[in-house]
Amino acid sequence: MKTANLGFPRIGHHRELKKAVEAYWNGTIVESELQQVCRDLRRANWCLQRDQGIEHIPSNDFSHYDQMLDTTAMVGAVPARFDWDTKQVGLDQYFAMARGVFSQPGKADVAAMEMTKWFDTNYHYIVPELAADQEFQLASRKPIEEFLEAKQLGIVTRPVLVGPVTYLLLGKCVGDTFDRLSLLDRILPVYEEVLRELQAAGAQWVQIDEPVLVLDLDDRQREAFAQVYQRLKKAAPRLSILVATYFGELRDNTETACRLPIDGLHLDLVQGRSQLETVLDYTAGTMTLSLGVIDGRNIWRADLDEVLTLVKSAVEQVGTERLLVAPACSLLHTPIDLDMEKSLDPNVRHWLAFAKQKLEEVRVVATAVDEGEDAVAEKLEASRSALTARKASPEVHDPEVNARSRSVTPEMCRRSSPFATRRELQEQRLALPLLPTTTIGSFPQTREVRRARADHKAGRLTHEEYEAFVKEQMAKTIRFQEEVGLDVLVHGEFERNDMVEYFGEQLHGFTFTQNGWVQSYGSRCVKPPIIYGDVSRPRPMTVGWITHAKSLTEKPIKGMLTGPVTILQWSFVRNDQPRSETCRQIALAIRDEVADLEAADVPIIQIDEAALREGLPLRRADWNDYLQWAVECFRLASSGVRDVTQIHTHMCYSEFNDIVEAILDMDADVISIEAARSRMELLRAFKDFDYTNEIGPGVYDIHSPHIPMVESIQELLDAAIEVFDSRQVWINPDCGLKTRTWEEVTPALANMVAAAQAARAKYGKLPVDHPEESRPI
Ligand code: GLN
Ligand code: ZN
Repeated sequence: MKTANLGFPRIGHHRELKKAVEAYWNGTIVESELQQVCRDLRRANWCLQRDQGIEHIPSNDFSHYDQMLDTTAMVGAVPARFDWDTKQVGLDQYFAMARGVFSQPGKADVAAMEMTKWFDTNYHYIVPELAADQEFQLASRKPIEEFLEAKQLGIVTRPVLVGPVTYLLLGKCVGDTFDRLSLLDRILPVYEEVLRELQAAGAQWVQIDEPVLVLDLDDRQREAFAQVYQRLKKAAPRLSILVATYFGELRDNTETACRLPIDGLHLDLVQGRSQLETVLDYTAGTMTLSLGVIDGRNIWRADLDEVLTLVKSAVEQVGTERLLVAPACSLLHTPIDLDMEKSLDPNVRHWLAFAKQKLEEVRVVATAVDEGEDAVAEKLEASRSALTARKASPEVHDPEVNARSRSVTPEMCRRSSPFATRRELQEQRLALPLLPTTTIGSFPQTREVRRARADHKAGRLTHEEYEAFVKEQMAKTIRFQEEVGLDVLVHGEFERNDMVEYFGEQLHGFTFTQNGWVQSYGSRCVKPPIIYGDVSRPRPMTVGWITHAKSLTEKPIKGMLTGPVTILQWSFVRNDQPRSETCRQIALAIRDEVADLEAADVPIIQIDEAALREGLPLRRADWNDYLQWAVECFRLASSGVRDVTQIHTHMCYSEFNDIVEAILDMDADVISIEAARSRMELLRAFKDFDYTNEIGPGVYDIHSPHIPMVESIQELLDAAIEVFDSRQVWINPDCGLKTRTWEEVTPALANMVAAAQAARAKYGKLPVDHPEESRPI
């Protein structure tokens, strides 16, 4: 039985790719040096996969930045603003599309292409920009070059391409919307040429990724597949085409996929175990099936007995000849090598598998089928013992947490009074002006702040010295907020490395790797926490800092927490219980923190749910279920307070249209959202619902260094007050200020306060100071 892999992490064991790419951007190394690092990484990855016993080894899964951008380069879809010479897409052209061109001598600024999340992963791709009259041409021979590069090393790889239907459907229309699939006729010749060249170069298989096959498609989109693959098959008849689907099951696209005139189909049997039956019925041995049985999205060891049962059921029906064993999706989304983790708790470590270990699992399964389980008895035994240990471990199972989770009642997820009652009490307590001003929580994380944290971690700063440093930053920030005239103050989040890690580090049930990096976008990598056990909070996490901040001012302080859904979403989550259950445990821990903040007399508590929307399942049919438990977890975390305590939440995105009802259902007293970039357009979504709680639509885009003018803030405010009663509206930036500098933040917030004062004069009866003039920098 043959083994396959769909893609391997490209960043390198020590993030060599990140370092080399950034060094190239900084001008510390030249292109040939960067390319040498990339060649070394590719060679190491190919050899590693070969040594792990993988037969279908991918090539062209490497990327300098992103595989969708690689495809844009391959088909020559460079947006017009980049002023391209329409021959080949060189490295600088390529990076320019990813990063834009800014303040380069002799060159006009050009905006980068947009970036968005790759399906429901935390990886971000560069969105293709497609015009109705888009032309395509073969402008990068990377797939062929990398195939030949591996061949020279004696490894015949299976090149990977992003499929044409997926490429077009994930692109965005520039100008008026049009049917993106109308571009198929023009893009297919490029794919045909690539396939012909790969065939001529000696490739036997090509893997064409069409993950859109797990999304909701309409008939026309489904029909496109048959036509596309007929053409592609004809272009290179001796080349075997494997279409890869992943991140879910095919459901109503099953027939479309199974009827394609191709040689192989890859199925995600981790997220869609039950689809195997149906697909086997359809294909009945006519094409090769690649069984994606090892989770490529998580870090847990597989239950190999369970996997073997599934694989053997397929073998019984079609024999081994037409089957491949593989991970469910590309391993891009897992860290590379567990062997590098020296300081993990050895128990927990035993339960894990990173990319390299996952390939070993693939190999074990294939060998067990070929030679019998005895041939891999030791490996199977290790897998079993890990599983048994994990099931029984007191580190994982905390009876108290379980009992508490079971005893959650609907009342615990509801505030005791309706908003109208709460509002009155909160108004009396806080005595805020009309259109109150605030910020989203973080203030600039300067080099100094980051250095102090690193020094503390490395032991160069004592705990006392570090604490004194943070307190000094906090005091300075409180003073600044008072001086600039903000109404609700924050402590500034200087003690936090990251809004999830900070809480994970203090909660039971979480652990952290030393090298468990995964690519987030471009050269950016993240190191998500691992939630391995029942979650509980041994002691207060933020109360000390926030009460200290409170002692420094007479103005109301807002305490800052990260919400349960966001903590869940940005971690590797245990797979031995439903995500909703893990989320509920986190919610209970946050609920305790909320209670402690309230007891410490903190009048306002903000619970950030930055990732609530991105948790949405790929299929609409699954949305309700998710939204229901996600919103309930937020409410569980936030509803334990008295009426007089004001709960805020923050969400840093603006696509609300399809989930407004769920957002309203969270019943936060105040929600702050991103709104500046869409010029308050999203507020229309709220118009149709009777939203009575308060809202802070962000009045300036913190993602840009641009300082907003008073007038432009006023315009946005006017637009907001057209939709909402002025008594509902708060004034705040779009998101936290941690990525900005003090030089940017100072005038921006001064202008925001000035706009607020002017608006109060316009919409209310409260006295106003003299609105300040705009202060452009
Ligand atoms: N309170 C967080 C901050 O200000 C919110 C960050 C976020 O929404 N991503 O940084
Ligand atoms: Zn945000």
